[in-house]
Amino acid sequence: MVEDEALIADAVAARLRSEGYDVEVARDGPSGVDLARSAQPDLVILDLMLPGLDGLEVCRQIQKDRHVPVMMLTARDDETDLVVGLAVGADDYLTKPFSMREVVARVQAILRRVDAGSAPHTGQVIRVDDIEVDVDARRVRRGDEPVHLTPTEFDLLVCLAERPGRVLTRDRLLVEVWGYRDGSGARTVDSHVRALRRKLGDGVVRTVHGVGYGLGDPADEADELRAAGRGSTNGS
Ligand code: CA
Repeated sequence: MVEDEALIADAVAARLRSEGYDVEVARDGPSGVDLARSAQPDLVILDLMLPGLDGLEVCRQIQKDRHVPVMMLTARDDETDLVVGLAVGADDYLTKPFSMREVVARVQAILRRVDAGSAPHTGQVIRVDDIEVDVDARRVRRGDEPVHLTPTEFDLLVCLAERPGRVLTRDRLLVEVWGYRDGSGARTVDSHVRALRRKLGDGVVRTVHGVGYGLGDPADEADELRAAGRGSTNGS
């Protein structure tokens, strides 16, 4: 954990330790980079505003050596949007103030996803329009161009691409991609969709207003709404 506010750092560290995790804390940017190198953590919880180097730069530097899942802490929602827009490669964002229960849930969800990512290979390649997703290799191309996604962006894309023409609600995406079941974090979905659009180009991920997101040509609207659990049963 890289956090200069001692109260937050100590509370999060104590709670995660009580859940059985080993936690080490750095109090500024440069020592955060050093600690990530020496401790080789499975996950970094990284405050955005830090003395020395800010969280964005710390994130870039620790990702240079190897991919480490990063959960970024921000002070405000608009700060989160700003950081997501910069595509620094964080896997998740948590806005202060947060509950200790929320931190634990998110840490568990991220580590679960990392484990799932190392599951046995199936050789699955998904194609939707000119997007090609190699699920095992975790590689994405649009046309002939490789597209570089963060692990979370990749998981979100796979989740959408597995059901082309369907629309998935934010709640469903939160459960399937982030592993959250408490309905929080719709903004996280929106932020990551925005990042996907920036990298894949507009017109790939569709917004179905008031419902959620989809990939590929829409199935007929009645089906779409039904799939999202919002439609009437009128089949016309
Ligand atoms: Ca701070």
